[in-house]
Amino acid sequence: MLKSDVIVIGGGAAGLFCAIQAGKRRRQVLVLEHSETIGKKIKISGGGRCNFTNIWTNPENFVSANPHFCKSALARYTPKDFISLVAKHGIAYHEKKLGQLFCDGSSQQIIDLLLRECGAAGVEIRCACRVLNVNKDPQAVSFSVKTSQGTFQSSSLVIATGGLSIAPLGATDFGYGIARQFGLKVEEPRPGLVPLTPTSQMLKQLAKLSGISLEALVSCGGRDDKHRTEFRENMLITHRGLSGPAILQISTYWKRGTPISINLLPEKDVLDLLMQNKGSEVALANLLSRWLPKRFAQAWCELYAASKSLKQYDVSELHDIAQKVHNMQITPAGTEGFKKAEVTAGGIATTELSSRTMEAKRVPGLYFIGEVVDVTGQLGGYNFQWAWASAYAAGQFV
Ligand SMILES: Cc1cc2nc3c(=O)[nH]c(=O)nc-3n(C[C@H](O)[C@H](O)[C@H](O)COP(=O)(O)OP(=O)(O)OC[C@H]3O[C@@H](n4cnc5c(N)ncnc54)[C@H](O)[C@@H]3O)c2cc1C
Repeated sequence: MLKSDVIVIGGGAAGLFCAIQAGKRRRQVLVLEHSETIGKKIKISGGGRCNFTNIWTNPENFVSANPHFCKSALARYTPKDFISLVAKHGIAYHEKKLGQLFCDGSSQQIIDLLLRECGAAGVEIRCACRVLNVNKDPQAVSFSVKTSQGTFQSSSLVIATGGLSIAPLGATDFGYGIARQFGLKVEEPRPGLVPLTPTSQMLKQLAKLSGISLEALVSCGGRDDKHRTEFRENMLITHRGLSGPAILQISTYWKRGTPISINLLPEKDVLDLLMQNKGSEVALANLLSRWLPKRFAQAWCELYAASKSLKQYDVSELHDIAQKVHNMQITPAGTEGFKKAEVTAGGIATTELSSRTMEAKRVPGLYFIGEVVDVTGQLGGYNFQWAWASAYAAGQFV
C-alpha cells in the first residue's frame, strides 16, 4: 500500500490546480488520471486558445441550487490571481470580448503552466490509472483507493473528475458515484451550454433559415424581470436547431417543456416602425430586411405573417407582427445532449459541502471541486475560474 497525504482523482483544471496548492503546503500529493494524458478539456477549450478566466467574474454568472455557495471561493481566488500566474509564466493573452481572456498562442500553454507548477510543488501525476474502488472504514482516518496501478492510501481524497460532457475527452460519472457511495445528495446532472433542438415540425420550418446568424435578445423564465434570464448575443440557426452564444447561454437556464423568447430587434420599436410605414407600398419582408438579414426576413414572413405591402395590413395585424418580432416564442423539444454540451449543470449538492473548504460535511477528508459540483458558469471563462477558485479553496485544507 503506497501512502500519500492527498490523493486527487481527475487530472483536469481543478484537480491539477488543487494538487499545486496542496503541494505548496508541503503535502505529499498524488494525482490519478484515467486518460493517457492530463487536461484534455483544457487543450480543446476556447477553440484551442483556452478562455482561462473572465475579468468580470461575479457570483451572478453561476447557476446552482444555492446561488450563494460559490461566493466564498470566488472571493478568495479571483481572476486577477490567475492572471498574475499566467503573466508569471510569460503567457501572452488578450481580451476577446465581454471580459473573456484567451491565450494569444495555444491552450497548451495553460497545460504547460499547470505541469510546471505541479513539478515545482512536487506533485506526482499518474496517467492511464483506472480507479477500481474507493473505501473508507467508518473508524479509519484514511481512504484507500484501489487502482489498476496498485492501492494507494491518503488522509484526504479530492474528487475532481468533472461532469458528463463529451465522453471522448475522458468524462465519466465517477464523481456522482462516489457521492452516492458516501450517501451525499446529487442534483440531477443535465447538459449546459448546449445547442437546443426544435420539434420536427419546427425543424422543417427552420431549415429555410439554416446558416443565418443574427444578434438577438434571448430569454426564458418567469414573466417578471426578477425571474427572467436573458442574453443579448449572437444566435445561429443550424440544420439541427438553434445554437450560437445566446442559445448556449440560455440553455443552462431553460427548463424542458417551457418556451424561450427571442426578441429579434431588441432596440427598435417595431410597432412604431410599422405604423410609420402603414400606408406604404413596401412589402413587410423588405421593410424588415432593413434591420434583419434579407433571407431571414423573407423566411420569417413565410412562417409568421405572409408578406404583403404595408398598406394591406390593418392596425391589429401590425400589432400582432410587432409582438411576434419582439417575442418570437419557440418551445425546444430538447438539447443536443452531453455529447455537445460544454458543461454539465447539476452535480454534488452544495448543501453537502463546506463553501470554505469544499469538504463533505458528513465525510471528513472527502472533497469535491470543479465541474462535478453543482456550480455551473455561464459561457465566457467562468467555468475555468470556478475550477481554479474551488481548487484553491480545497487546496488550503486538504
Ligand atoms: C469544447 C469545450 C470547450 C470549453 N471551453 C471553455 C473555455 O474556453 N472556458 C471555460 O471557462 N470553460 C470551458 N469549458 C468548460 C471547462 O472545460 C470545464 O468546466 C473545466 O474543464 C472543468 O474542470 P474540471 O477539472 O472540474 O473537469 P475536467 O477538466 O473535465 O477534468 C476532469 C478530469 O477527470 C478525469 N476523470 C474523469 N473520470 C475519471 C476517473 N474515473 N478516474 C480518473 N480520472 C477521471 C478526466 O479524464 C479529466 O481529465 C469548455 C468545455 C468544453 C467541452
